[in-house]
Amino acid sequence: MSEKKIPYKIYLEENEMPKQWYNVRADMKNKPAPLLNPETHEPMKAEELETVFCKELVKQELDDDSRYIDIPEKILGFYKMYRPAPLVRAYCLEEKLQTPAKIYYKFEGNNTSGSHKLNSAIAQAYYAKEQGLKGVTTETGAGQWGTALSMACAYLDLDCKVYMVKCSYEQKPFRREVMRTYGASVTPSPSEMTEVGRQILAAHPGTTGSLGCAISEAVEAATHMEGYRYVLGSVLNQVLLHQSIIGVEAKLALDKYGVKPDIIIGCAGGGSNLGGLISPFMGEKLRGEADYRFIAVEPASCPSMTRGVFAYDFCDTGMVCPLSKMYTLGSGFIPSSNHAGGLRYHGMNSVLSQLYHDGYMEARSVEQTSVFEAAEQFARVEGILPAPESSHAIRAAIDEALKCKETGEEKTILFGLTGTGYFDMVAYEKFHNGEMGDYIPTDEELQAGFAGLPKW
Ligand SMILES: *Cc1c(COP(=O)(O)O)cnc(C)c1O
Repeated sequence: MSEKKIPYKIYLEENEMPKQWYNVRADMKNKPAPLLNPETHEPMKAEELETVFCKELVKQELDDDSRYIDIPEKILGFYKMYRPAPLVRAYCLEEKLQTPAKIYYKFEGNNTSGSHKLNSAIAQAYYAKEQGLKGVTTETGAGQWGTALSMACAYLDLDCKVYMVKCSYEQKPFRREVMRTYGASVTPSPSEMTEVGRQILAAHPGTTGSLGCAISEAVEAATHMEGYRYVLGSVLNQVLLHQSIIGVEAKLALDKYGVKPDIIIGCAGGGSNLGGLISPFMGEKLRGEADYRFIAVEPASCPSMTRGVFAYDFCDTGMVCPLSKMYTLGSGFIPSSNHAGGLRYHGMNSVLSQLYHDGYMEARSVEQTSVFEAAEQFARVEGILPAPESSHAIRAAIDEALKCKETGEEKTILFGLTGTGYFDMVAYEKFHNGEMGDYIPTDEELQAGFAGLPKW
């Protein structure tokens, strides 16, 4: 059989777009551990979760058995504004590296929010609207999630209140203005607007905030306002489910050309893009139908999988959220302030944590200057200015391709290019000026984080 010439970009037709999300939990023998009530330590019941989250999303969160879940028409319609996302064959990068490896990336940055987060934002906003709610609250760190959610809420005419980590609020005024353009209200966190915000400010005057702290504020705001629920952009199983659209589309596109990746790589913050990208491939591996190597790439400054512990932990600093069993650095862990781009959450999604624990997936950490070197190299040949987060995956993909160059192996590498970096130019500037350093936390610093793990 003659090989089909593979184009630079493989686009699916609109009518080829997946109409269902794939739930990898259905194929896991060891299911992820349940969320626990932080007071009773009993598994959270749907009714308890529904005081914080939308009803249908709670159902998805707790559903370990349905393999496929239909994507509602309205969400499919929204997806069509920016999907199907292209699967790109990185011919230019391959040539530059002089590698026999074949490199592909799934590009999720082709929308105004600039990342894959819109895939879950529209789903979460949709179910909130269906439930008849007035609005939703959330946190945002670097700002991509808040931007995505504000776009989705504008589309559905829902109110959107965003608690933005204070240092990002100050450093990324343009992100903030995009959110306000879409009608969201944006509050720097910690704020005086919530009880937990006031407590954190009293305990740590002058703090510039953290994701865990903004989550606590957003949860409190949602539960104290009639007609509001809280939504989260990563970490939860429902978010992984929505993000499976990335992997299902990528697999469809590869199957069209009979391409089977050997290695699949994703950057890992809370785990949503990585989980979404690998889900259908992992399903095949779990069912014994195919084998793949999966690599999670995280920053050396926030190494939840490579140096964290697998334990029940708080999802937020204020300890108001359910406990989740995951690889974690402890909810009090805050990455060094010189850490530039995203991926700064202390824990990892529980599905990915379980899969990693069971040996289905590898993880590695990379230092930020080497990440920006990879970003620059990629931008110069592939034309796209990548987000720093995404560039962690680029780093690992380049490293794997260079290994192939040494061994002469023609491996096929697929990685997730989650977004663009136009709002990260301050970090790029630091890199260009030679002002960017690498920070690797010491064992003692990590111990301080582990000491805050819940004990019972
Ligand atoms: C948020 C974000 C990530 C990390 O989040 P995950 O949930 O781990 O996917 C990665 N890349 C971009 C561009 C992001 O905005």
